[in-house]
Amino acid sequence: ATKHASYDPLKAATWKPGERVPFLFLAQALDAISNESGRLAMTELLCNVFRTVIATSPGDLLPVVYLVANKVAPAHEGVELGIGEATLVKALAEATGRKEAQIKIDMKKAGDLGIVAQASRTTQRTMFPSAALTCGKVLDEFRFIAKESGTASQDKKRARIKALLVAARECEPLYLMRQLGGKMRIGLAEQTVISALGQAVVLSEDPPVPPKDLPARLDEAGKIMKKVYSECPSFDEIVPALLEVGVKRLPEVCHFKLGVPVKPMLAKPTKGVTEVLDKFQDRLFTCEYKYDGERAQVHGFEDGSIFVYSRSAENVTERYPDIRDSIAKYVKPETKSFVIDCEAVAYDRVKDKILPFQVLSTRARKQVQTADIKVQLCLYAFDLLYLNGEALIEEQLRERREKLFGAFEEVKGEFQFAKTITSRELEEMQQFLNDAVDHSCEGLIVKTLTEEATYEPSQRSNHWLKLKKDYMDTVGDTIDLVPIGAFYGGGKRAGVYGAYLLACHDEENDEYQAISKIGTGFSDVMLTERFNALKDHVIDAPKPYYQVDETFAKKVDVWFEPHEVWEVKAADLSISPHYRAAAGVVDPSKGISVRFPRFIRLREDKKPESATSSEQIAEMYRSQKINHVGQAGDEDD
Ligand code: ATP
Repeated sequence: ATKHASYDPLKAATWKPGERVPFLFLAQALDAISNESGRLAMTELLCNVFRTVIATSPGDLLPVVYLVANKVAPAHEGVELGIGEATLVKALAEATGRKEAQIKIDMKKAGDLGIVAQASRTTQRTMFPSAALTCGKVLDEFRFIAKESGTASQDKKRARIKALLVAARECEPLYLMRQLGGKMRIGLAEQTVISALGQAVVLSEDPPVPPKDLPARLDEAGKIMKKVYSECPSFDEIVPALLEVGVKRLPEVCHFKLGVPVKPMLAKPTKGVTEVLDKFQDRLFTCEYKYDGERAQVHGFEDGSIFVYSRSAENVTERYPDIRDSIAKYVKPETKSFVIDCEAVAYDRVKDKILPFQVLSTRARKQVQTADIKVQLCLYAFDLLYLNGEALIEEQLRERREKLFGAFEEVKGEFQFAKTITSRELEEMQQFLNDAVDHSCEGLIVKTLTEEATYEPSQRSNHWLKLKKDYMDTVGDTIDLVPIGAFYGGGKRAGVYGAYLLACHDEENDEYQAISKIGTGFSDVMLTERFNALKDHVIDAPKPYYQVDETFAKKVDVWFEPHEVWEVKAADLSISPHYRAAAGVVDPSKGISVRFPRFIRLREDKKPESATSSEQIAEMYRSQKINHVGQAGDEDD
C-alpha cells in the first residue's frame, strides 16, 4: 500500500463543492488509515474524511459512511457483499486479460486479491476512458451486485465487477476488491466509524464549538452515537438526521422504533448458582428458563402485519408463516403495536412438551409455506421492548415484564411467557435449574429486575447471567468457533475431512485466531454435510487475517474462507504454544487452546464475525478454577 505519512484528508478535496465525492479520495484515505495502528489516529483521520465530505458535498456523506463501514444496507435488509473469491478472480482475469491461474499464483504470494488487482494493469480496451469512479456510483454498483439473484446473476455480477475494475485507478482496485470480498482489512472497527462520524458532525457545527468545550463535546458525541446506533442500527436513518439536527438532538430523532430490529441483549456465562449469588449480591433478580431454540424479535404493526428478526437482526419473517398466521390469537385487543423478544422452540403439541433444538433445525428456512410445516413451534416471550407507540428499553425489567403479561394472552404450546421464579435461595434456584434441564432447556438466564435492569441492545451484559448445567464444571459455556482449515480423513473418514482447524474471532484486529483442532462429536452424516457445505469455500492459501502458528499451518491440508460457525463443547482452556487465540493477553507470547473439543451443532444464526471473541476466550480462561498449562506435543497435534 502507498504510504501517506502526512496525509490530511482536510486538504485532499480535489472536487468542487456539490460535486460527487471521488472514490479515489476515499481509497487514498483508507490507505492512510491502514498505515495507522492506533485507534486514536485512525479515528482522527476518519473524522477528517467525514468533515471534508460534510463541508463540500454533504449529500454524499451517506455513501461515504456505507463504504467506510463496508456495508451496503442496514443489517435487517439482508443485503450483503461478500462475493466469493472464485468470482472475483474471474472478474479480475476478464478485466485485465490475465489468466486465472496466474492470478491465483500471485494471490498465493501476495496473500490478498486486492494487492494483485492493484498490481495488474487493465488491458481492457475502451473507446473512451471510463469516467472516474465516485463514492455514490461505487455504492450503487455494490448494491446491485449484492442484490442480484436469479438466472444469469453470476454473469451480471461479474460484468459489473469487471466494469468497476476497468474504471479503477491507483489504489482504487485494492479497496474495490476487498470491499467486494466483504473484508476491508484495515482494522477499522464499526465503533470507530460511529464515533468518528459523531466527532466530525460536532467539529462541523456552525458556529464552531468553542475550543474549551470541545473535549467534553467530542466525548459526549461518542457516547450518544454508540447508544443511538445500538438502538437504531441504520445509517439510512442516522446520517440524514445527523446532518439535520446534529449529535445532541440525534436521540430525539433516531431511537428504537418499530421495524428496525435492535441487536439483542446477550448474557455472560457463569459456572454455578453461587457465582450468580456472588455477582448479584443484594440486588433483586429473577431466574428464567433458557429455552433452546432460535431467538426471534417479533415486531407487530397496527395493521396486524408482523416481522420476525433473528439474533443477527436478519429479517426471517418468511421462515415463520405459522407465527404470522397465529399471532392475532395471543395479542390482546388493546395491544396495537409491539416488539417482543422471544425464543422460538420446537414443540410437540400432542405430548405437550418442548422438543430439542435438533428438531427445530429440521424446519425449512426459506419460503416456508404453512401447509408444509411439520414441526410446530411454541414462542416463549421473555421481554417487551415496545408497546403501542412507546419504546420501553429504558424501563426496568420488572415494568417491562408486567406490561408483557398485560399485553398478551398465553396459549399452551403456542405462545407462552418464559417460566420464571424470583428467589434468592440457593437450593430453590438449583432446583429450578434442574427443572429447566428436565424440560429440555439449556439452563437458566438470571436477570436483574429493578436496578440496572434496562434492556441493553447489543450488549453482552453483566445484568444477564447464563447458567448452563452441563458446563458448570468446565468453562461455563459452549464456544462458537469458525472452521478455517481441514485435514483429510483416512480409514472410515476417507472422502471427507477427518478433522478441522477452528478459530475464534478477534474483534480488535478483525482476525481469526487458531484455537483448536477438532475431530470428535461428528456423526458420519454430519461429516458429509460439513464437507459438502465447506467444499465451495475452499481457498488456495490461508487468509492474511488468519493467525496460525507457521509450522502448524504446514500440516493443514485445505483452507476455507470464514463461512460457518460451530458450537463446540470443550473440557477446558489451556495455554498453548501451538495456538494463537488471545495470544499475548494471558501469556506474554503463547495463545489459548480449547482442549478436547466436541462438535455440538452448526450455528446457522451466527455470522463468523460473531463467533466467540478472543476477549471472551481470555475471560473464560481467567475464570477457570484450575488453569492448565499445555505442554508442547499434548493433544494439539
Ligand atoms: P452466545 O453463544 O454468543 O453467548 P447465544 O446466542 O448462545 O450467544 P447466550 O448469550 O448464550 O446467546 O444466551 C442468550 C440466548 O438465549 C438468547 O439469544 C436467546 O436466544 C436464548 N434465550 C432462551 N431463553 C431466554 C430467556 N429466558 N431470556 C433471554 N434469552 C433467552
